[in-house]
Order: sequence, then C-alpha cells, then structure tokens
Amino acid sequence: MISLDEARGFVRRDLCTLDPVPRPIDDALGLVVAEVVLARERVPGFSNSAMDGYAMRSSDTSASETRLRVTGAVMAGEVASTPLGTGEAIRIMTGAPVPKGADCVCMIEEVSLDPAGREVSIQRTMAVGENVRHAGEDIEVGQVLIASGAQLGIVELGVLASQGYATVKVYPRVRVGVLSTGSELATSLGALAEGQIRDLNRPMLLASLRRSGFEAIDLGIIPDDEALITRTLENAIVDCDAVVSTGGVSVGDVDYVKGAIAKLCGDRARSMKVAIKPGKPLTFGIAGERGTPVFGLPGNPVSTLVGFELYVRPSLRVLGGHQELERPMLTSVLDTAISRRRDGKLHLIHVVVEIGADGCAHVTEIMRQGSHLVSAIAGANAIAMVPDSEGLEPGQRVRTMMLDFDRFTSPTSESST
Ligand code: AMP
Ligand code: MG
Repeated sequence: MISLDEARGFVRRDLCTLDPVPRPIDDALGLVVAEVVLARERVPGFSNSAMDGYAMRSSDTSASETRLRVTGAVMAGEVASTPLGTGEAIRIMTGAPVPKGADCVCMIEEVSLDPAGREVSIQRTMAVGENVRHAGEDIEVGQVLIASGAQLGIVELGVLASQGYATVKVYPRVRVGVLSTGSELATSLGALAEGQIRDLNRPMLLASLRRSGFEAIDLGIIPDDEALITRTLENAIVDCDAVVSTGGVSVGDVDYVKGAIAKLCGDRARSMKVAIKPGKPLTFGIAGERGTPVFGLPGNPVSTLVGFELYVRPSLRVLGGHQELERPMLTSVLDTAISRRRDGKLHLIHVVVEIGADGCAHVTEIMRQGSHLVSAIAGANAIAMVPDSEGLEPGQRVRTMMLDFDRFTSPTSESST
C-alpha cells in the first residue's frame, strides 16, 4: 500500500495544461483566462448623470434660493442639442450625457419646478461634480481588466462585455470521456436479468464533471472484455482530453481495465493500492502523444465518487489552467463520534457540515459507511478525512473537504428566511 499523497503525486506528476484557444464570452463562464486582458475603452465613455434631475453650473447656485431657466431636456441615449449657459438648467435623466457647460446635477427631489415648467428653484449650493459619473471612473484605457490565470466568473464576463469583447483567450473546457466497465451492468431502462445491476457510476460521473465545469462525453457501458475495453480506451484518448473509467482495476479474474491502461500507457501507467477507505485500488496512466490522462477508478459507487474528488477533479483543473486545484478544506468540530478501527488507512467519510451557533463548522451527521451504499451518502456536503486511529470523539476536530456549498446551512441563513 502507498499513501494517498504518493498516489496523488504520481497522478499529478506529468499533467499538462491544454493549449489556449479563443472562445466566445457567452461560452466562457468558469474557464480560465490565458492572457492579460487590457481595457480598450473607457467606462463610462462620457460624463453622465447619476440621477434623474437637472444639470446646472455649481457656480450659479447659492445658499439661499437660486432660480434657473429650463432650456431643454436630455434622456439616456440622447445628447443635449445646446450647451448650458449661465443661469440655465437642463432636465436630465440617469445615464444621459452631462451637457457641455454643466458641472453638476441636482436631483429631481431637491428642486421645485414652476407650473409652466420653465423655471426650477433650488435651496442650496451644489458642489462641482455632484451626481456626475465621470468618464473613465470605472475603467481607463490600458488598465488591466483581468489577470492571466483568473477564472471567468459572472463579474469578469460583465467587465469583458463592457469593453465590447466578443471573444477571450482561455484554456479550453476539458473534454472528458466516461465509461463504466462490468458485464453485470445495465442502463436504467428495461428489466434487469438475473445477476445484473444498474450502472450508476456513469450518470454520477457525468453529472460530477458537468457540475465542475468540464465537458462530459458518455462512452457507455463496456462489458468485461479485454479487447473491447482496450479499443474503447484507444478511441477515447483520440477524442478526449482525459478519460475516466470505473471498475476492473482490482484483483478480480476479469479486472481488465488495469491491463488495458498499462498496455495503452506503457511505463507511464501505474496500478496502485492506496491506503484509503473506500477506494483502495487505482490505476492511472498518461496515454498517447497528447499526454491524455486515463483514470481507472474502482467500481464501487462511493469509491468512484471519492476517487473523482481525490484524483480526477484536481487533475482536470490542471488541464483547464486553474490555479486553485482543490476543494476548500475546513477544520470542523465533531458533534458526534466517528467510530473506526486502526487499519493503516485514511478513512474518507461522507458527512454533513454546518455552521453552528458558535460560528464554527460542525460535523452534524455522519453517513452510514460502505463503498456500495450510495443512498446512505445522499445529502452529504463534505468528506471527512479521518486519520488512522481508533475513532474520534465528539468535540474533536477533523479535516473536511467541502463538496457542495449549495447544501451548506448556517443558523443565520435559517433564521433570516
Ligand atoms: P469492480 O471494481 O469492477 O471490482 O466492481 C466493484 C463493485 O462495484 C462490484 O460489486 C460491481 O458490481 C460494482 N460496480 C462496478 N461498476 C459499477 C457501476 N457502474 N455502477 C454500479 N455498481 C458498479
Ligand atoms: Mg468489475
């Protein structure tokens, strides 16, 4: 058996980032930028009003009453037809260009308009620039908008859109082929023959990949047939940037995936027994000229999910150019005991982590364990990493890998709804 660190080190060793490509910004959410993006337009492009009101000259106003002649109106999208002269005001709406000659905008609520609509009066002095958004206040030409290596979130896409960028150079969305191996496997359609089970690894992996922002390609179910498995993997490495297979990597009579990956990757493959539970067997190799990573995860569904988090997701993030590879880790206080026996392995246990009334992360629920027990881990939002020991007591701390912040609750979020 080797340590988890050693296994992860082997998997990470020769991974390469994919070559950058230009992508339309509406298909770039979550991708990583592969260039420094500079501003090419000022934002705002012109001085405009921050309020609905009247554009005027601050020097015209005084502490007592000031009356100004209304000479026109300018809406957002228009330009005032005449400049503003002394003693004048122009009605202006939010976002409209501030007319030449004006240096401030008095909000509509602070002026009174005579019934004929020809004159406004205001009862205070205005400061230069009041309620004016200045040209270039948000972004100046040449400014760094997005650093190379940044992940494109919603705000970054907005910033690119504000500059008229239609495309951006990014690391491509990693294309990942997924296959389930096992002669016992059937799809979710139709009746099961005796001895058959339904394939749940493939649907779970496809969903996990998509949730993490990768492109998932369904390569189907392949029976325990050495030639067929080899051929499927050979084809997959041509079409995909990475391949994830489940089943057939242990010591069973028909565990052919191990050998198929070895054949495909030569001395760049390794079959490992990792000191973790669940998910002990792992085969990993790098195949072909493009250096395509091929993951052979064990077939038990909980092992598959754990293997995805420990090896697959961080590796695919390397390919996608991400700087942050890992899920967030929290140190959480145990509200209940975790029982286990000393066996030389790190135990990876699905749990629920919540923020307690003390503001700290707490493990509030420990899912029933068993690498084949999928329904038992439904509702978990984290994996607790329980080191080799005779178990942990309530009040002790444990490292928790946070999987799903959509399922993360805290007392404040409950009481505020
Ligand atoms: P294996 O890793 O091929 O030895 O499989 C270990 C266990 O996981 C066996 O009980 C398999 O039937 C089961 N298994 C393998 N692949 C899947 C799958 N795709 N969906 C559900 N169970 C599976
Ligand atoms: Mg099998």
